[in-house]
Amino acid sequence: MQHRNFRRQRILVTGGAGFVGSHLIDRLLDRGDEVLCVDNLFTGDKSNIDHLADHPRFEFMRHDICFPLYVEVDQIYNLACPASPVHYQFDPVQTTKTSVSGAINMLGLAKRVKARIFQASTSEIYGDPSIHPQPESYWGNVNTIGPRACYDEGKRCAETLFFDYRRQHGLDIKVARIFNTYGPRMHPNDGRVVSNFIMQALQGQPITIYGDGSQTRSFCFVDDLVEGFLRLMDTGPDFPGPVNLGNPNEFTMIELAEAVIDLTGSNSKLENRPLPQDDPRQRQPDIRLARDKLGWEPKTQLRQGLGKTIEYFDELLRRNIGAEKD
Ligand code: NAD
Ligand code: UDP
Ligand code: UDP
Repeated sequence: MQHRNFRRQRILVTGGAGFVGSHLIDRLLDRGDEVLCVDNLFTGDKSNIDHLADHPRFEFMRHDICFPLYVEVDQIYNLACPASPVHYQFDPVQTTKTSVSGAINMLGLAKRVKARIFQASTSEIYGDPSIHPQPESYWGNVNTIGPRACYDEGKRCAETLFFDYRRQHGLDIKVARIFNTYGPRMHPNDGRVVSNFIMQALQGQPITIYGDGSQTRSFCFVDDLVEGFLRLMDTGPDFPGPVNLGNPNEFTMIELAEAVIDLTGSNSKLENRPLPQDDPRQRQPDIRLARDKLGWEPKTQLRQGLGKTIEYFDELLRRNIGAEKD
């Protein structure tokens, strides 16, 4: 029985059946919280939360956050939004609606129940950056009418809404700008570079390098990211962010491909493909603010994190091959 003066935190995680959200939920349940996962399963998958089905402090609700949601919670993590270019460009209007209408509904909910609310923003709000690495003070370089705009501008507008709800209604907000993150439970075919390269290497298919492969990204392992979320959520109301969360170690796509080939022992060869429109040339987070305010920095090195991710995809492929045989 719970102590009379102790009430568990009831936490809403939108997008909780997705890659990052499901890891966040595991951490919240581990520390004793109650979790309500709200997800419309557009890109998420029940298999990411199957292991929690009988957990006494976990509840799943299938719901699209573009529609109002009336629940009673103490904190909200708003992660619902397709995140890979292939997924968010599949139905770009719905992507913008999820970011904008979804944010309004979750902010309205937070306002009514007086909950602290976290927004999963993105490094994409910096667009194709002209400053390197990107500090939070950089305003970005985004093409408003390009194929990535539904995501970039949707997330920018969501940030605006969060800060206006804070100024206008005194909401307790936390905004994290997340840089490329990878790890187990990524979608095997969402077109993102880490999942593509690993799946290709494991199946002996050519590794698809878009452009000449000299563009860079900085990859953060999912466990490190989730630690950053929890630390940000625990800061006082005078620190709303935005704060960059990502791994500052920067790699070219050729270097990433070589690391994946090496770790998988694959015979795959590199193959060049056209560079997608508006593909940012380089990206690296300036994480001085996160270090200073959250005492946070990523701990997992790329090869270590890739190893765990490769194990996950390897297991997934074995299970699928097993299922085909059955
Ligand atoms: P994901 O696609 O695995 O998860 C997103 C989840 O949101 C899915 O489960 C999906 O079904 C759900 N969803 C989408 N639209 C919804 C809606 N209208 N209503 C309810 N649920 C909805 O992606 P992820 O990588 O886990 O990303 C989680 C969040 O982090 C996203 O907001 C994304 O923009 C942000 N982010 C991720 C990365 C990254 O590298 N993974 C980088 C920057 C920002
Ligand atoms: N909302 C919700 N759950 C709540 C409270 C509000 O989904 O518990 C939604 C509702 O759809 C509303 C939106 O959040 O339109 C914004 O709420 P707010 O109170 O800011 O504005 P208003 O109700 O005046 O539109
Ligand atoms: N990329 C690649 N091969 C692939 C998939 C992606 O070379 O099979 C490149 C892509 O052009 C981009 C980088 O890898 O420069 C990261 O792409 P991703 O879609 O993972 O993330 P984002 O562009 O959103 O940072």
